[in-house]
Amino acid sequence: MGNQVQVIRGMHDVLPSDMPVWNQLEDNYRALVESYGYRQIRTPIVEKTALFKRSVGEATDIVEKEMYTFDDKNGDSLSLRPENTASVVRAVLESGIVNDQLLRLWYCGPMFRHERPQKGRYRQFQQFGAETFGMSGADIESELIFMAARFWKQLGLEDIALQINTLGSNECRVHFRQVLVEYLSDHRSSLDEDSLRRLETNPLRVLDSKNPDMQSLINNAPKLQGSLNQASSEHFSQLKSILDHGGVTYEVNPRLVRGLDYYCHTVFEWVTDSLGSQGTICAGGRYDGLVEQLGGKPSHAAGFAMGCERLISMLVDQNKANMEHPCDIYFSMRGDDAASIGQKLAESLRDHHPNLGLTVHSGGGSFKSQMKKADKSGAKVALILGDSEIESGSIVVKYLREDRPQIEVLQIELAGKLNEIL
Ligand code: ATP
Ligand code: MG
Repeated sequence: MGNQVQVIRGMHDVLPSDMPVWNQLEDNYRALVESYGYRQIRTPIVEKTALFKRSVGEATDIVEKEMYTFDDKNGDSLSLRPENTASVVRAVLESGIVNDQLLRLWYCGPMFRHERPQKGRYRQFQQFGAETFGMSGADIESELIFMAARFWKQLGLEDIALQINTLGSNECRVHFRQVLVEYLSDHRSSLDEDSLRRLETNPLRVLDSKNPDMQSLINNAPKLQGSLNQASSEHFSQLKSILDHGGVTYEVNPRLVRGLDYYCHTVFEWVTDSLGSQGTICAGGRYDGLVEQLGGKPSHAAGFAMGCERLISMLVDQNKANMEHPCDIYFSMRGDDAASIGQKLAESLRDHHPNLGLTVHSGGGSFKSQMKKADKSGAKVALILGDSEIESGSIVVKYLREDRPQIEVLQIELAGKLNEIL
């Protein structure tokens, strides 16, 4: 016992009892995004490290500190994917499908970040995402937001608020960068180590700092809104107007810059107070520059990603999580001939009732111990096949959850009477 190999810190098994809520989440997500015309894409969980450096950005938390990076046997530097947007862009570029058409894509799968494990923050975690290509307007950004809003509604989740912001066009950001660098340089002595480094490499990132000591400096910093050109302002106004019309409430948070480098124009986050400090459950925005940055022709793009573990915590806390689905029937049997007759009978029940939850007892034991297992299975009824039933060609139906006397049914009539019995 003392010498067992254990799971890696910050990574988790999903045990059978956890599966119903995972299926609830995955089934709902798949059905929802497919209904909006999104098609699934799957990419490898390992990519060349350069992909993430060039997309997520060298001076981001993810690339600086959080990636699982290792050398392949032939010396290539590879990384477990910390997020999936970069991989999806690589895949649509490499396959050429980004040039063909307007694309609406979705994905689901594990991501890896070497962070300090805590509630809502793991080293392997699951994300659902959506990515779109070829659409320049605020209408696709609003579609992404409507889609997420509908997902929360379908799951029955409450206490989720939307924050939006605009980062403007690349030109706006160049202008803002200058203004910000001046301000930060004037306050050099108040900057922490990370921020000092970012002042040189990527000053906008300073605004994304989670360091509490930096917050007042950040709050007093010049705002990007002051650097927006007319086209950028209009784009943002249009988004707000579509959301207003569609009845989606939001807050404009001028401090929202997102922790990844590739965003422009709209960024958004869905946040909740109910999870403590790990309160962002979905984040996204527009990333028009990324396709070109990764070697393609300029292409419009927008998307989001959501953290499944945080959503599951909310489902559980708000009593909206699906519970384990109990089986319908527990089939217990005893005696030398029971297995051959019983298994055949069970198969014929399955022929007639394809979705029947039927667990057939295996491993012998007394009827008493079998009934304990039947009770634990959650089944509505137990079928009992012993020597006397085998002799008379019948089977006993025992009700486990209702106060009803047990009945005896002919084996050949069982399949036909099953709906009545259940
Ligand atoms: P945070 O500010 O919480 O670190 P982030 O900005 O790093 O989030 P994104 O890269 O935008 O997160 O990922 C999208 C979503 O994935 C997050 O909103 C969150 O729900 C989830 N997520 C991110 N990192 C983790 C993690 N280590 N463990 C669990 N979920 C995560
Ligand atoms: Mg993070």
